[in-house]
Amino acid sequence: MGDIKTSIEKVHAAAVDEFAAAGDESSLESVRVRYLGRKGRVRDLMGTLGTLSPEERPEAGRLINDLKSRIARLHDEKSAALGASAGGEKPSPETLDVTLPGTPVRLGRIHPIARAAREIVRIFAGMGFSAVYGPEVETVHNNFECLNMPLDHPSRDAFETFFVRDRSDVVLRSHTSPVQIRAMLASKPPLRIVVPGRTYRPDTVDATHSFMFDQIEGLAVGTDVTMADLKFCLNEFGKAYFGPEVTTRFRPHFFPFTEPSAEMDVSCIFCGGKGCRVCGNGWIEVLGCGMVHPNVLRAVNYDPEEYTGFAFGMGIERLSMIKHQINDLRLFFENDIRFLSQF
Ligand SMILES: [Zn+2]
Repeated sequence: MGDIKTSIEKVHAAAVDEFAAAGDESSLESVRVRYLGRKGRVRDLMGTLGTLSPEERPEAGRLINDLKSRIARLHDEKSAALGASAGGEKPSPETLDVTLPGTPVRLGRIHPIARAAREIVRIFAGMGFSAVYGPEVETVHNNFECLNMPLDHPSRDAFETFFVRDRSDVVLRSHTSPVQIRAMLASKPPLRIVVPGRTYRPDTVDATHSFMFDQIEGLAVGTDVTMADLKFCLNEFGKAYFGPEVTTRFRPHFFPFTEPSAEMDVSCIFCGGKGCRVCGNGWIEVLGCGMVHPNVLRAVNYDPEEYTGFAFGMGIERLSMIKHQINDLRLFFENDIRFLSQF
């Protein structure tokens, strides 16, 4: 019995050394076979049980089984250590086909409306305008009264929009113009800003209308700002955005916050101004503009005798629709990747 105990401990000590020395999966496997295989050393020890007396056999059998599980544990520990240092199981050369195409990574991109807004901001930045932003939830005072649209003003009808409590309180802004008020209250002239952002109107959704759309607004105020400055800036913008070949024209219009007011058209970018299915008469309306109304300057404590200014506003969706010949406004909001990935 003493002999077999000694043999068991010898085998264990040898196994500890050999498993420790195994440097890769294949040498580990041959060590495993040498000890735990069908002709391995543990099995040899089992074979010696027959030489023992019947009283000694159960105890010796238990010790040999114990040895077997100790060696199995040595193997598992070494196997785990080799696996970790190799960074997991390696694919065998037969299963790794390096010529298979990889899984494509789909890159996102900037939404066409955000892209157009950036482009427009960049054009005006080149003329000295800086971009400012304001809240989409705005006071009625900033959204209407300061912009020369008192409560009883008929022009307010088209803008009557999403009030939070009642008509004298807080609204989702119906234009980006209240940011002009905020900017003028926060600083002294001269001032040159553009304001991109979302706006909200009580319009039913169809191919050219939405309850929500994006505007970009501009304002320049100083001691000698004239209508000539307005026409120059917006003419430059028209050429920069639609192409150097376009010409612009201004038609008289009415806005409560500017006087005089105008709408600007660009010559049709599809027919060159000859008249076609898109434009009809050769011109495409792109924006509204005018000289800042004295009442607006008074509302922000600018002296209209000392300062003048011009302002303009345009719909970003509308400009994009013209430029890219998109016939339905709703496409911008439906998140259809097939549409969006074209830009
Ligand atoms: Zn045309």
